[in-house]
Amino acid sequence: MRSLQSEIEQHGRRILQLVDQHPDSLFSKAGFYQRLMALSMRDEQFKLQLFRFVDVLPSLHGSREIVEHLEEYFAGMRDGFAPFVHAGVRLARVAPWLSGRVLRWNVSGVAHQFIAGKNAGDVVKTLRKRRAQKIGFTVDLLGEAVVSETETDEYAARCLDLLETLARETRGWTDPLGRNSDLFPIVNVSIKISALYSQISPADPADAIAHLVPKLLPILRHARQRGAFINFDMESYAHKNITLELFKKIFGDREFKDWPHAGIVIQAYLRDSESDLRNLIEWGRERDTRFAVRLVKGAYWDHETIRAAQNHWNCPVYSQKPESDANFEALTRLLLENESVVTAAFGSHNVRSIAHAQAFADELGIDRGRFEFQLLYGMGGPIKRALVEMGYRVREYCPVGELLPGMSYFVRRLLENTSNEGFLRAKFAENISEDELLRDPRELLQKSRNGLLPRLNNLTTNAMKEPHPSYNLSLDTPPGDTYENAPLTSFGQQENQDKMRKALSEMRTRLGKEYPLVINGEKIFTGKTIASINPSSPEDVVGAVAEAGIAETERAVKVARDAFEKWRWTPFEQRSQLLERAAAIMDRRRFELSALEVFEVGKPWTEADGDIREAIDFCLFYAQQMRRIGRPRLTQHVPGEESYYHYWPRGVAFVIAPWNFPLAILCGMTTAALVTGNTVIMKPAEQSAVCGAMLMEILEEAGVPPGVLNFLPGKGSVMGAHLVDHKDVDLIAFTGSREVGLRIWQSAGITRPGQRELKRVVCEMGGKNAVIIDADADLDEAIVDCSYSAFGYQGQKCSALSRLILLEENYDRVMERLIKAAASVRVGNPEEPGITVGPVIDETAYNRILEYIQIGKSEARLAYQREGVPPKGFFIPPTIFSDVKPNMRIAREEIFGPVISVLKVRDLDEAIAVANGTDYALTAGFFSRSPANIERAKAQIEAGNVYVNRSCTGAVVGRHPFGGFKMSGSGTKAGGADYLLQFLVPRVVTENITRHGFAPEQAPEYRDEFLWPKRQ
Ligand SMILES: Cc1cc2nc3c(=O)[nH]c(=O)nc-3n(C[C@H](O)[C@H](O)[C@H](O)COP(=O)(O)OP(=O)(O)OC[C@H]3O[C@@H](n4cnc5c(N)ncnc54)[C@H](O)[C@@H]3O)c2cc1C
Repeated sequence: MRSLQSEIEQHGRRILQLVDQHPDSLFSKAGFYQRLMALSMRDEQFKLQLFRFVDVLPSLHGSREIVEHLEEYFAGMRDGFAPFVHAGVRLARVAPWLSGRVLRWNVSGVAHQFIAGKNAGDVVKTLRKRRAQKIGFTVDLLGEAVVSETETDEYAARCLDLLETLARETRGWTDPLGRNSDLFPIVNVSIKISALYSQISPADPADAIAHLVPKLLPILRHARQRGAFINFDMESYAHKNITLELFKKIFGDREFKDWPHAGIVIQAYLRDSESDLRNLIEWGRERDTRFAVRLVKGAYWDHETIRAAQNHWNCPVYSQKPESDANFEALTRLLLENESVVTAAFGSHNVRSIAHAQAFADELGIDRGRFEFQLLYGMGGPIKRALVEMGYRVREYCPVGELLPGMSYFVRRLLENTSNEGFLRAKFAENISEDELLRDPRELLQKSRNGLLPRLNNLTTNAMKEPHPSYNLSLDTPPGDTYENAPLTSFGQQENQDKMRKALSEMRTRLGKEYPLVINGEKIFTGKTIASINPSSPEDVVGAVAEAGIAETERAVKVARDAFEKWRWTPFEQRSQLLERAAAIMDRRRFELSALEVFEVGKPWTEADGDIREAIDFCLFYAQQMRRIGRPRLTQHVPGEESYYHYWPRGVAFVIAPWNFPLAILCGMTTAALVTGNTVIMKPAEQSAVCGAMLMEILEEAGVPPGVLNFLPGKGSVMGAHLVDHKDVDLIAFTGSREVGLRIWQSAGITRPGQRELKRVVCEMGGKNAVIIDADADLDEAIVDCSYSAFGYQGQKCSALSRLILLEENYDRVMERLIKAAASVRVGNPEEPGITVGPVIDETAYNRILEYIQIGKSEARLAYQREGVPPKGFFIPPTIFSDVKPNMRIAREEIFGPVISVLKVRDLDEAIAVANGTDYALTAGFFSRSPANIERAKAQIEAGNVYVNRSCTGAVVGRHPFGGFKMSGSGTKAGGADYLLQFLVPRVVTENITRHGFAPEQAPEYRDEFLWPKRQ
């Protein structure tokens, strides 16, 4: 008996032989597309520009715009394409209408190599042709990027229409193989789950399933009546568990339990795909009705690796291509071994993967008609033909729709065809030998492990450890880049959902507890308390924290002053380690702290987790930064003299924090002061005093000495004001409102009798942040990001979007989709996972925001206000005002709630002028696909943090040092390389080292601080 490998080779050679009789036109040398692809494979920079240009093209309206973009994208290119572009641009200047049209025509021609038709009627022509070639079909409706429930309803309606048309048009068609037709209905439709519910949150599978089931049932009933097959496609990893659960739920329930014509996709590039498949098979056996699995490698490799690296998650996909190939084969075997319950479809263009399935099916004696090969429309034509000739069942995946909604699909195909690692490129563009093409992927892996081959791919199993190859790390890599952020919690993992639920229920049992203030390590109850309440349910007291009065304040200043004399001489290494221990404790108590934030400040799960992550990052980042700046540094190399530059702490720091990032901001300011050698009086916001008490507990457990950190909750107007004015307070670190910030700034400027230092104020205030959406912006992204930036955490982030600036040109399109998106965001109690808009912090904020909404109604036009927000708790409906003018109050004053003011402008000049026309300069956003406009926005928008083509909230420590100027702050950057310098005074020590004309040749680098007495 021959080995499986030689059987695979035999099958593979036969396929390749048949393929070579009809080479693939996609990879031939002629034609516009072929030339572009050849260039893309040669030149990564060209490929990047080309794909970006293709991405923007369908949304450009006039020929002039098209030509301008062409020039912006390609004019600087220096390669074989340059003459063509320059000629094109010259022609375009003379006759833009002509070149615009030609380009659009060419690109849509390319796109239509991958898109089978504009609509259901259109695609039927293609299906008929394939029928003549004995190739079946599955039709996929393009348009997966939905931003609102209106759009998901439209998608569902299109699915029904598609089923109807296909059933009608294929009446009388028979199975191409003429056997096992009961397993393979003629009409086969592939559905994308994400297109049926716009608010899917990986943290809340139950909510997603509750919304998806009613959307799917009519489609499934229709399909069943018409004898059709429905397949659930698999999308990004974030949606995988929900898709699997949904599949098992619907097809396990009574109505569809006995329906065999349902299938789902398994992606072999996922590390957990084997356990998912085993689980599905087990479920299928219990269900006792056949179902189908389409096995693919997976189409979102780049997306998954980038997302994992950005969030510091373990990467869910394999990092080496042969790992995916080998796993595809392992899963192939699993599927075929369970053929009695699962019908397999192999979705691959890779001849080795296909041949392996064929050989293994032969080994098990499975008839060729009981499984199928599926290939994409426009790809691998000769392979399809070869498989038909060999007597296999072949189905083509045919996407249907317009180019604009189909763009992400189209770009995925372009990436796939030009990928260095792809089979199609290897076979058709690079003519790799048959032996190589048919090689066992396990053999390649083994060789790679043994060092006989170069590392097969650049990403390691853990994306935290190695950066993505495209990051282009060079020797000039910025210093911040050496810092690795703490990971975010992935609430897509069931385990993390369970931990969060448990933490919430445990926290509920602790509500109402009393917390002391802490002076010199002593826990003190003053007899007066600050009650912190749950904004979702104001009768629930989260905790009561002892309130400091003037007497406690005086005591705290004294002990902090005394403790300073010792703490300032504590080596920075010890202080850095204190912060690292605190970070470890927060990490250990992560879910508990998140749960507390949900109750105390109404943060949705992911926002609460983001806040804890930021607090951990502040600790670790500042510890690292202190090590960087702690040692004295030689200023210059001058013979005979040593001059060392170094820093001293300032003294006693008074930290005043807001409630909206109750742990992160308090922790950031406090740890910055501590690690630089200052002693601290820490005052949390009254509304988040329990979070403050937790931070005190954590830093004490980490080992902060008594007196070095003192916890003093109290009334800002009483003890806060007293401390700001205190002669023995040397530094004030404040984050909060402009009103209070300016008062502190002014008051700190007055020198009081006995004061030793000029007070330093680190001052972060509010914003009136603008986002501009350019005419060519990707609206699928812009709407989702703007909606989140404005409504996420109820608009209570200082970075939140508050003014949306729209060009006349796209005003109507954006408004229509934005309003629908606002109507779809989830509003509710943030104890539920997946909520976007919870309650605002307290009754005062609630009333103030409602007042602004009244002002908006009198000044501008109410374009949209959400109805039906929860009646209990401080819930404000997401609100959008249009016809807003720059001088109106709602365009100038900070509202700090889920309210957007929309301003319409003529052009980008006016947009930038309006964006810059406020007192504030905190964050700003710009959505555009014009390289020139992006460069201009980067240069001209006045904000401390300018974000391009992404949300304007969610700054990450080290990566996006955060803080503004003008009336937004004093220009310090939390989480940035310069931040610690605010807490220090620089000092230079110079020594003449010459003695009678002789001097050492070199001054030594100091390895230690200037500490006295010297430590061993
Ligand atoms: C009919 C059909 C339906 C499909 N449906 C889906 C679907 O629902 N969901 C989905 O995600 N995809 C789907 N795909 C797309 C499919 O995932 C890709 O076309 C497929 O991965 C290409 O694999 P291949 O075997 O044809 O080619 P190959 O060239 O052998 O493999 C390319 C694949 O290898 C993987 N890969 C590339 N580089 C690496 C690396 N460094 N490390 C690890 N793995 C790597 C990627 O998955 C890449 O797509 C479908 C494909 C077909 C044909």
